[in-house]
Amino acid sequence: MPNEITRIAIIGAGPAGLLLAWALRDAGIDSIVVENRSEDYVLARIRAGVLEQGSVETLTRLGLGDRIASDGMVHNGIYLQADGVRHNVNFNELIGRTVTVYGQQEVVKDLVAAHRDAGSTIYYEATDVSVHDLESSDPRVTFGHGGEQHTITADFIVGADGFHGVCRPSIPFSDITLYDRNYPFAWLGILADVAPSTDELIYALHEDGFAMHSMRSHTVSRLYLQVDPTEDIANWPDERIWETLQTRLAVPGWTLHEGTVTEKSITPMRSFVASRLDYHNLFLVGDAGHIVPPTGAKGLNSAISDVTMLAAGLISHYAGDDGLLSRYGAAALARQWKVQQFSQWMTETLHRHPGDLQTNEFDYRSQLGRIDYVTGSLHAQRSLAEQYTGLPL
Ligand SMILES: Cc1cc2nc3c(=O)[nH]c(=O)nc-3n(C[C@H](O)[C@H](O)[C@H](O)COP(=O)(O)OP(=O)(O)OC[C@H]3O[C@@H](n4cnc5c(N)ncnc54)[C@H](O)[C@@H]3O)c2cc1C
Repeated sequence: MPNEITRIAIIGAGPAGLLLAWALRDAGIDSIVVENRSEDYVLARIRAGVLEQGSVETLTRLGLGDRIASDGMVHNGIYLQADGVRHNVNFNELIGRTVTVYGQQEVVKDLVAAHRDAGSTIYYEATDVSVHDLESSDPRVTFGHGGEQHTITADFIVGADGFHGVCRPSIPFSDITLYDRNYPFAWLGILADVAPSTDELIYALHEDGFAMHSMRSHTVSRLYLQVDPTEDIANWPDERIWETLQTRLAVPGWTLHEGTVTEKSITPMRSFVASRLDYHNLFLVGDAGHIVPPTGAKGLNSAISDVTMLAAGLISHYAGDDGLLSRYGAAALARQWKVQQFSQWMTETLHRHPGDLQTNEFDYRSQLGRIDYVTGSLHAQRSLAEQYTGLPL
């Protein structure tokens, strides 16, 4: 029955948990990561793909920037498209900032490799993970691993265990409020073996619904379609997906190149924020505390910004100053609500809203007006650029 002692016990080896363990290691603070999935599963999970400039800076500062620099695709802006007309919003020209297209699974791959080289302690395939004594000065994590029952005693526990994890539900119901919003649409996403047909991401509002052209590399494209949340992926053979993408992304004189679809899935759209990211000696980071619809590309970036703030708080705590750590929850939540309103704005602006015909038509024309306003106003574009490339911490 192994018992271990560490300073920080981290639940979850997604990007948030792995990055926090790495940032703490860099500062000489020991931690142990406990993950309920296998390393292969964690490495294979395909999710987000756009890094804010601040996220790239954080990863680079922590020695994780080599492959981002060689393989990441720096993007100066995005295209906003409405009713078949495409406009470029150039963040670099507007505010001198950029984003980098680099898949979340590549970030995770870099982190797993770095931890492996450094000999970090990460328990994969842990079972029955639970957290105890959060109100005490020596909270514990218990789990099964390799046929044995393990206990880790720590100064702090960090819940980096995503939306479905165990840490947030361990906060007494009376001490936390959950705010959420479910959208009446979902994203059907594909990965395709074809060079991107665009130099920047395209966000398109079409009368049939939203479509997006993103990419993962110079040879792999990522494309999305708005579908009903109850839609069955079996109803979407590749030909139907390409045909719908061709319709919704069409502009005169531009060609969408098709290729072999290697992955497809449907993801519901949801906004969610917990009222607190700290509870005695437990801290929440990333999807454990909040999730956004993917339209603003903020999920992974929010996880990275939480970790950056919490790591700074923990480092100064061990240097004898508790100020930053005591402000972590409030500071991360304040930033998160700004991110939430941006993600909600992008989502509601770019998707067709179901409803009775009259309301729906009014909304659609109002959305076209909103895009027309943004693409015609430098002030509005600067605001979009500032939020898309990442707010300061
Ligand atoms: C299908 C999908 C597509 C997405 N696409 C985009 C996108 O295009 N753009 C974007 O910005 N964001 C996207 N996101 C969101 C983005 O991927 C997340 O915000 C990001 O993964 C958050 O990182 P995290 O480490 O906080 O959580 P996660 O990545 O969820 O990691 C949590 C980890 O905790 C582990 N875990 C869970 N429960 C336990 C437990 N009980 N014990 C131990 N370990 C546990 C999980 O296995 C996982 O490894 C997407 C999310 C999903 C689900």
